[in-house]
Amino acid sequence: RVISGQPLNEAEEVFTSSLRPQHLDECIGQPNIREKIAIAIQAARQRSEPLEHVLFYGPPGLGKTTLAHVVANEMGAKIRCSSGPALVKAGDVMGLLSSVNTGDVLFIDEIHRLSTPVEEFIYPAMEDFKVDYTVDSGLHAKTINFPLKRFTLVGATTRAGLLSAPLRSRFGMLYHLDFYSTPELTEILARSARLLKLDCQDGTLELIASRSRGTPRIANRLLKRVRDYAQVKGSGVLSTDIVENALKMEQIDALGLDPLDRAFLKALVTVYDGGPAGIEAIAATLGEERDTLEDVVEPYLLQIGFVRRTKRGREVTPQARDHLGLAPKKGKHP
Ligand code: ADP
Repeated sequence: RVISGQPLNEAEEVFTSSLRPQHLDECIGQPNIREKIAIAIQAARQRSEPLEHVLFYGPPGLGKTTLAHVVANEMGAKIRCSSGPALVKAGDVMGLLSSVNTGDVLFIDEIHRLSTPVEEFIYPAMEDFKVDYTVDSGLHAKTINFPLKRFTLVGATTRAGLLSAPLRSRFGMLYHLDFYSTPELTEILARSARLLKLDCQDGTLELIASRSRGTPRIANRLLKRVRDYAQVKGSGVLSTDIVENALKMEQIDALGLDPLDRAFLKALVTVYDGGPAGIEAIAATLGEERDTLEDVVEPYLLQIGFVRRTKRGREVTPQARDHLGLAPKKGKHP
């Protein structure tokens, strides 16, 4: 699925990494976050102290992993990466923690998916830079108090609300990443096009940007699809026609919505009479994971005002019906 914010496979991860900005001044957009991070980094460096723990949250593909790497680079530190689901036992974390040096960044993606025992194990590591680690088991079990180097934990999650309150409170800085504007995405694409040595006609990058659902990962992914299309169907140069045709082939519409977005809206209209409908019910109708709908599909539809969330569930708005070419909802008492 083109709009999914997650990397699709290893090859894409390599492509994504090759386009990742390395330093703060190469990052585009998120001006508030960039300014706050720049100040925090400068202050920490002046005091020769590690940076406080940072949490980045927001929909997939907006730059959380990128910022974690940028923070490490700017601090002149090494980064070690892991993810919530990969850290199952205290021993998994112990391996990581015991190898970090002073000032290093430990990046945990999908941090909301840490198991409770692992989460409780890292509280003292975050707070006091020490852990109580139990070796052996049964009669021979003993707990060793293990001092750690002062490190910076950078966590990333799609929704801060999924984090337990005790874990959330242990981060000194919490930053919410917003969707990017079309001019910002155009700038990101211009940088990517330069790195990929692409020949683009005027207005083509802006056109791709406007179909990228406010998300840099999607913008770069579409650029790659358009590049392939231009190479096979044209002379390799990106023209408006080539971009339009490539996006049509990917079933991306004028607003950047893809088949799953449209299926979500259509299910709400046709099966649930426009809503309100619960997310579980919609997920069952579409045969999709609830998490995918909540993390990837809904945030953008909410942002552009196509869906409303009410206490009783999700409702489709007249703008969405209009976009899909569906008749407005009939009043109950005509
Ligand atoms: P997340 O961790 O939030 O899912 P990533 O950090 O993996 O997102 O970002 C996805 C892609 O978007 C990266 O390849 C990177 O090139 C690009 N990207 C993200 N944020 C920016 C930015 N501020 N400026 C330029 N490119 C960005």
